[in-house]
Amino acid sequence: MTDKPGAPDVIPRSEHCISRNHISEAALKVLYRLKSAGFEAFLVGGGVRDLLLGREPKDFDIATDAHPEEVHELFRNSRLIGRRFKLVHVRFGREIIEVATFRSGHDAENSDTGHVEDGMILRDNVYGNLEDDAWRRDFTVNSLYYDIRDFSVVDYTGGLADLKAGVLRIIGDAEQRYQEDPVRMLRAVRFAAKLGFRIHPHSEAPLAHLGERLEAIPAARLFDEMLKLFLSGYAVETFELLRHYDLFRYLFPATDACLAREEHGFPHTLVAKGLENTDQRVDAGKPVTPAYLFAVLLWEPVRERAEALQAEGMSEIQALQLAGDEIIAAQIARVSLPKRFSLQTREIWVMQARLKRRNGKRAERLFAHTRFRAAYDFLLLRAETGEDELQPLAQWWTEYQDVNAENRTDMAQQAPAGGAQKRRRRRRRRKSPAGQPES
Ligand code: ATP
Ligand code: MG
Repeated sequence: MTDKPGAPDVIPRSEHCISRNHISEAALKVLYRLKSAGFEAFLVGGGVRDLLLGREPKDFDIATDAHPEEVHELFRNSRLIGRRFKLVHVRFGREIIEVATFRSGHDAENSDTGHVEDGMILRDNVYGNLEDDAWRRDFTVNSLYYDIRDFSVVDYTGGLADLKAGVLRIIGDAEQRYQEDPVRMLRAVRFAAKLGFRIHPHSEAPLAHLGERLEAIPAARLFDEMLKLFLSGYAVETFELLRHYDLFRYLFPATDACLAREEHGFPHTLVAKGLENTDQRVDAGKPVTPAYLFAVLLWEPVRERAEALQAEGMSEIQALQLAGDEIIAAQIARVSLPKRFSLQTREIWVMQARLKRRNGKRAERLFAHTRFRAAYDFLLLRAETGEDELQPLAQWWTEYQDVNAENRTDMAQQAPAGGAQKRRRRRRRRKSPAGQPES
């Protein structure tokens, strides 16, 4: 049904489960004000999809025939924004309601030049009506509209049937739609993981050979998408699916190469367990940071590289610093990572060496370090997944945090010097290429 434009199915209020009680007050306000001003206004996208599934929506998106400037005029608390196309953000405290004007999709062959290059949509801001808007969306289940006039649900693309069947289906020709915007492949995986839906065979088939198209996506957009993929509470399933469709390597090439050499479950277990912890934190409403996520995802390439540098005579700390810099530099060419995060990621890695040296005053200093908690969590993760017999060290730090200050001093006094001491042969001091003094 995804290729037959025509009259939509309209499901009256009495026949669906969306109640205004489940829609945020902010979203309702926006819908009502647009309506009173004489515009069409619909809730659309994830909000409608999730409500119909009985889930709590992450946010509410609104579609309207009002132009962005008109929307902006109606709401003092609004801002015109526009990266890829013009939108209006209406702010209510911490909640932001995104209002988009109906847009029309493109027929790749008929579109005017400049919009499409190599099958990929470059600009996508031609306004349209409700029907156009429905057909230009990505998946049928994301193209359901809740009409504020009569509280009905409007379905042009067969989204309701797919929703009931648990099927994720791209609207229109799958190959063409992924080519227009390759990020839709990542979105397919994200929704399949989050909703537990199966991807319809037609929507699934092109994933196997179009992955490479992701290389044309700007690193900054992939960073945004990355956060949605891995920090929404379904990171484990998402990771497994990305690997299944061989899309993971376009996001984390170095990690993927390591995973391909997997031995006895390594390093897969560390990544999977790290993501599982992230999911649990999201579930518990605890904060999660991209810094830790990237520390987990890039650890294996960093560890391998640092090992090689150590074999050449570098200290463990120096090796981790340099390996971290190299791996991050290569990674951000693909998926960007703002500096404020990458600095933290690097600290988490370098702390892995420092945590071994805990005698005298060192333990106290490390414990007071802003990155201690993250570094300790990361050490636990490595220990748990069997890396390098780190269990005793991890246990030491767990105990250290449990006991009182006096006992801490005792523990630190009795602790082995760690790190450097263990090295059988200490080579001549070398200046690190990054110019950092050896610590
Ligand atoms: P989430 O629960 O993650 O917010 P969502 O479906 O609302 O899921 P958004 O990224 O918020 O996803 O996008 C809102 C809607 O905009 C989608 O449901 C879809 O209809 C449309 N959309 C978003 N990105 C694309 C895209 N790349 N191509 C086509 N339609 C898109
Ligand atoms: Mg949304």
